[in-house]
Amino acid sequence: MSNIRVRFAPSPTGFVHIGSLRTALYNYLFSRNNNGKYILRIEDTDRTRFVEGALENLIDSMEWAGITHDEGVFVENGKIVEKGEYGPYTQSKRLDIYKKYIDILIEKGYAYYCFCSKERLDKVREEQKRDGKIPKYDGYCRSLDKREAEIRIANGEDYVVRLKLPENENIIFDDLVRGKVTINTSDMDDQVLMKSDGYPTYHFAVVVDDHLMNISHVVRGEEWLPSTPKHVFMFQAFGWKAPTYVHLPTVLNKDKKKLSKRQGDVSVSDFKEKGYLPEALVNYLALVGWSPESNEEIFSINELEEEFSFDRVSKTGGVFDIDKLNWINGQY
Ligand code: GLU
Repeated sequence: MSNIRVRFAPSPTGFVHIGSLRTALYNYLFSRNNNGKYILRIEDTDRTRFVEGALENLIDSMEWAGITHDEGVFVENGKIVEKGEYGPYTQSKRLDIYKKYIDILIEKGYAYYCFCSKERLDKVREEQKRDGKIPKYDGYCRSLDKREAEIRIANGEDYVVRLKLPENENIIFDDLVRGKVTINTSDMDDQVLMKSDGYPTYHFAVVVDDHLMNISHVVRGEEWLPSTPKHVFMFQAFGWKAPTYVHLPTVLNKDKKKLSKRQGDVSVSDFKEKGYLPEALVNYLALVGWSPESNEEIFSINELEEEFSFDRVSKTGGVFDIDKLNWINGQY
């Protein structure tokens, strides 16, 4: 049996962007190509960004595109259900799991309680900017006594939990597209891991879940590359093996800027409504950032499953060209 387990982990913050469909597709193709499992996890811990209907749009878009998952969140008879032995797969249903693991990280000395007010943080940031520094947390609460902090919490004070990064240490990991990546902790911030509302931040939840769900490869957009050292550090702090990382080039428009609504259709449902064939959109998106060995341009999803590999994914952004999509659409 294959040990390959990948996940697509969107946040329900809007309608599915074609860049996200491509991330889902590459995860799917890699899992099929390797006889692995493909999981759909919902990352909804940022309650302020939740958009009504986004989850339904996600499930519908993936179904339309034919990108089916093996475990995770499904819709059956109009109801959202979770399937698979590693669930629940919706992060807002996993709060007690994150609580358990944040306590472990604090206990190990890799995280700490922070009581700084927004006013104080704003002031520090302003001063740092004025001095020409990149704003980051100044470590004010780093050495607070844990017992004292617990008393303040018991007294009802608001707090967050932050990652305690060592000073001046290199964090190194391998990325299947980018190669070896090295970052020094002095260029990183003591990231908030638990918010005052009791929800984890993305950075903490993603590490706990990728570990507990036995994810072998994390395949996601390159906008997450700067966050990966924090994740790798947490894997090490827990004593867990980090997954293999694969950061995909951004989907760009013709003037090489990130594809956005201003330049035309960007959500999968726009293309569905306009009558594009899902096979054509999937075929075209596969080629935005990946090149097959042959000059062939028309691929069925089964052919893509066989041909796809990360070693032919490019390091630079892939340009989304609507004319090319239209041409492919006409070939079906
Ligand atoms: N929830 C993140 C997003 O919305 C996922 C990032 C990741 O795959 O780790 O893009």
